[in-house]
Amino acid sequence: MIQKIAIIGGGFAGLTAAYELGKKGYQTFLFERAPELGGLAGTFPIEGTRLERGYHHWFTSDTYITDLMSELGLGDRVMWIPSKVGFLNGGKIWNWVTPMDILHFSPLSLVGRLRLGLSTFYLTYLQTDRNKFYDYEKITAADWLRKFAGAEAWEKAWKPLFYGKFGAEAENVPLVFLWYKARLRLTSRKGLNKEVLGYPRGSFQVLIDALAAAIKKQGGKIYTGATVQRVVVENGVAVGLQFADDEKSVAAQRAVAEGHAYARFDRVISTAPSFATQRLAEFPAAYVQKMNTVKYMGAVLLILKLNHSMSPIYWLNIADRTIPFVATIEQTNFLSPDVYNGKRVMYVSNYLDASSPYFQMSREELFKAYLPSLQKINPAFSPDWIEELWHFKEAAAQPVMPLNYSKMIPEHRTPIRHLYLANTTQIYPEDRGTNYSVRLGQEIARMVDADAKSGDGWK
Ligand SMILES: Cc1cc2nc3c(=O)[nH]c(=O)nc-3n(C[C@H](O)[C@H](O)[C@H](O)COP(=O)(O)OP(=O)(O)OC[C@H]3O[C@@H](n4cnc5c(N)ncnc54)[C@H](O)[C@@H]3O)c2cc1C
Repeated sequence: MIQKIAIIGGGFAGLTAAYELGKKGYQTFLFERAPELGGLAGTFPIEGTRLERGYHHWFTSDTYITDLMSELGLGDRVMWIPSKVGFLNGGKIWNWVTPMDILHFSPLSLVGRLRLGLSTFYLTYLQTDRNKFYDYEKITAADWLRKFAGAEAWEKAWKPLFYGKFGAEAENVPLVFLWYKARLRLTSRKGLNKEVLGYPRGSFQVLIDALAAAIKKQGGKIYTGATVQRVVVENGVAVGLQFADDEKSVAAQRAVAEGHAYARFDRVISTAPSFATQRLAEFPAAYVQKMNTVKYMGAVLLILKLNHSMSPIYWLNIADRTIPFVATIEQTNFLSPDVYNGKRVMYVSNYLDASSPYFQMSREELFKAYLPSLQKINPAFSPDWIEELWHFKEAAAQPVMPLNYSKMIPEHRTPIRHLYLANTTQIYPEDRGTNYSVRLGQEIARMVDADAKSGDGWK
């Protein structure tokens, strides 16, 4: 008999899992709480096209997702574009792409620059044994860099970069993160002096739409605006779902439960963040503890549509801690402004704890708080450059793994039989990203298939 599989979450992990299971002949039902699909990589309309709510690009090593693009007939939409990365330090913008850029970075002493370059070279080029990661998950990147690159290089170069990515958690990030990321970025280089980054023509929405269309073509069902409230568990086995009591969730429940108290499924996959999955069922304390070892950073994004460019840089790390945000990403220094009808588009990015005041601010409050600092990036900047403003926030934007995380990762097969967890906290040692959510979706589909064929999968 064909098995009915429920998937909670319509980001790239959930969409890929549904698509892969559909290919294998399962009947899939995907439920997404938000009004639209895409999760953290979701988009919004701007100037006749779409743009990610949070800046997105790929590295050339992101082959799971670019292969999926090709499989869905979108291969010709993958563009590889040179990146322009910089640093704002001491009121000046410094380029930050090539080894020469590091050597020219005069806020650091010459010795500091050499130590920075040599330690980066050592980590990236000489530490190629994958088994090293067990050593590198025992120490924080901050401690390792202070020791080998030096305190000066940490303070003036690495710390701003880590703040740009992890906000207040910057000091706690294990070295394994840096080691893996350095290796990935290395593979995204065209020679020593050029880095290229990928982007799908038409935005990430083209892949979201293609996956949704493929799932529906397979006979799968997708419900947006449908919040799963409870995984129904009978005798330790997940047997179905119940939904929230808002209009769209009730409609989803009615459509799939067919008059019963809950909708019955053979297997359930949750791609929701760990804190959200925990609320769906009673998990044993040991598994909850594992789910809670990862701390999530929230992201706050202010997006400016401008009639002037702010700088020549795509990704500008802010090394000045008097500025209340960690990076600006000028999308139109990556894609041509023509894509957005000649307008300039820039993200102002912050990674924060969800309890931070900046996380609570309204769009207007945030703009007011950021305004004086925008002039530090470009002294000519004036508020009348701004034509439109958007504000987005995500509570589970970036998981920060603790030291020795390889021994604490929650298993995909949860202690509740037939209930699987497949979320960004299980992507390790790589950092989360759409490429790895696609891989995760593929892996979980293979696991569910193997378990269904063997009868169960749980010991
Ligand atoms: C600011 C920012 C920049 C980024 N930049 C990049 C980049 O440059 N390149 C890159 O590849 N990646 C980037 N990422 C990461 C990438 O977006 C994510 O890793 C990826 O999209 C995660 O997909 P996912 O499906 O695993 O999780 P999610 O996208 O989080 O999907 C989980 C889904 O579950 C839904 N959900 C939760 N609870 C329920 C419920 N009870 N019922 C129904 N649905 C529920 C959520 O609404 C969500 O849509 C970035 C992320 C952020 C925030």
